[in-house]
Amino acid sequence: MKIHTLCALALVGLALSWPGVVSGEETSRELRIICFGAHPDDCEIQVGGVAAMWAARGHKVKLVSVTNGDIGHWREAGGPLASRRTMEVEAAAKILGTTAEVLDIHDGELLPTLENRRIITRLIREWKADIVMGPRPNDYHPDHRYTGVLVQDAAYMVTVPFFCPDTPVLKRNPVFLYFPDGFQKPNPFQPDVAVAIDGVIQQRLDALDTLVSQFYEGGANGSADLIPSEPAKQQERKLEVRARFQARYENLANRFRSKLVECYGEEKGRGVKYAEAFEICEYGSRPNAEELKKLFPFFDK
Ligand SMILES: [Zn+2]
Repeated sequence: MKIHTLCALALVGLALSWPGVVSGEETSRELRIICFGAHPDDCEIQVGGVAAMWAARGHKVKLVSVTNGDIGHWREAGGPLASRRTMEVEAAAKILGTTAEVLDIHDGELLPTLENRRIITRLIREWKADIVMGPRPNDYHPDHRYTGVLVQDAAYMVTVPFFCPDTPVLKRNPVFLYFPDGFQKPNPFQPDVAVAIDGVIQQRLDALDTLVSQFYEGGANGSADLIPSEPAKQQERKLEVRARFQARYENLANRFRSKLVECYGEEKGRGVKYAEAFEICEYGSRPNAEELKKLFPFFDK
């Protein structure tokens, strides 16, 4: 009972204070963002545009793949594939201006264990994160689902000193946000922030181009048919992949148009062509509209 009361009080306190953005004294300070995807391509797909925009303003962004992606191909698997995919996300990170990390956990075998909760908690603390992102736990892929659960499980524990006492605790709880998805049950994704990525669309598509094993070659469900031998056809295939992603971010802008209008105003919001959007997790700190603008410093002008 006593523990419950303490937890409840701690949660209230954390929800009410997030001094970095509340007081205004640190408003121009560097933001630190850590994003978790299940595989070496998930973060790049979900947040590559906004990550590049944060990085261009001097903020620090880390994109973590919680598994090593070692079964994510139709032709190859194991250590060589994990190494290849690590090199791919490192190449993407160079283009985006971010940091990449791939955890050595087998693809398709992620579980929400205590050991993994500790790993995620330590990574968030070590990065001194202001913002943490991950998938919602409603998803078709078990690794995506459990990445969502693990990030949720860390959302309070990052502030608890005697959980992983070997890693300094965070003094303020970060804001946790979810990537968008299309799943409706038990509840659909509801955007709290939508960001125009028109200015970095080519850069974020260039970053996705580096993930050759996944998109050009088709990943786990691809086949040799996707890889033509003639250079002209190869170029065609490359453009096809690029166009598919361009359409994805265009669709997101249309899907979240009303949130874009809310964030940018009527005229600018209607004109946004490509977007990424995020939902605030109910755990962790809950920013108000003004605080959110400081975490996503993209809405002025
Ligand atoms: Zn994935």
